[in-house]
Amino acid sequence: MRWLELSVVADSEAVEAVSEILGRVSEGTSVQPTRLITNPNDELAVRDDPASPYVVTAHLLDDPASAGAVEATERALWHLQAFGLRPVGELRVRAVDDASWAETWKDHYVPQRIGRLVVVPSWLDEPRRDGEVQIVLDPGMAFGTGLHPTTRGCLELLQELDPMPSPVLDVGTGSGILAIAALALGATSAAGIDTDELSVEASTANAARNGMADRFTAFHGSVEAGPDAAYPLVVANLVAALLVRLAPQLVAHLAPRGVLIASGIIEPRAAEVVDAMRGAGLAVAQRRDDGEWVSLRLERAG
Ligand code: SAH
Repeated sequence: MRWLELSVVADSEAVEAVSEILGRVSEGTSVQPTRLITNPNDELAVRDDPASPYVVTAHLLDDPASAGAVEATERALWHLQAFGLRPVGELRVRAVDDASWAETWKDHYVPQRIGRLVVVPSWLDEPRRDGEVQIVLDPGMAFGTGLHPTTRGCLELLQELDPMPSPVLDVGTGSGILAIAALALGATSAAGIDTDELSVEASTANAARNGMADRFTAFHGSVEAGPDAAYPLVVANLVAALLVRLAPQLVAHLAPRGVLIASGIIEPRAAEVVDAMRGAGLAVAQRRDDGEWVSLRLERAG
């Protein structure tokens, strides 16, 4: 039998939530500390160091359903992270009895087409078809074999903007995918901001991969303390609770005739987000639903 071993590094505050997520697709999870506190005078007094991270590990049978299970796990971990819990490491997947796994996992990644935009994993050479716009991303930084429906929703809404407003502010830039797409679709420059320091590195590297190093700048922080400028286009793929809370700040970064693309909204909370945006002076110009996920294009009311 072949097994897939999933593992994630998480700090003590996130361990329970991560275990629950891995437990949904596996036979059980184990949690190992990465550091122990020992007492040279008392060998039995060994205990976990709660200030150091833990490794949460789970195994599942490698069968036709496992790719879906891995993707669902990645999605759930991504959401845990987006909710601003403590940082959660990247999901690592390996086949326990197959030494060649390190290379074969790449087979699971394929170019993703969203309208005329194609997101290509960095090691693939995808022929460009007429009218297509390609961007290259390292999926270590994007997530999973497919893009999250909220990212897709934003990419779809972005393509409908003609001409592409510029410059662009990408709030919660993550891998930089939305900023990079906006640049590929005609924006002249973009800024990304993210509370996760790793995102600054990842998005900068991805922008360079696309020859956009001089047109993209990443900032570490929250939009509350964001770059002090007004943008004709702001994109924010966060979660409903954050969009509600940050609505006034997002609007404060919008130029007078600016457009806000907001996503990461689970359907039952869409009305709440729309209300908060209305309260901040915006009206819904377009709405896209993809399963349980909603993406919005908002413009100033009146
Ligand atoms: N834009 C990417 C990633 C979205 S994930 C995409 O569409 O695929 C959401 C991102 O928002 C995460 O990288 C998370 O670190 C970041 N984030 C969470 N709260 C934030 C805040 N208050 N300000 C800026 N970024 C935030």
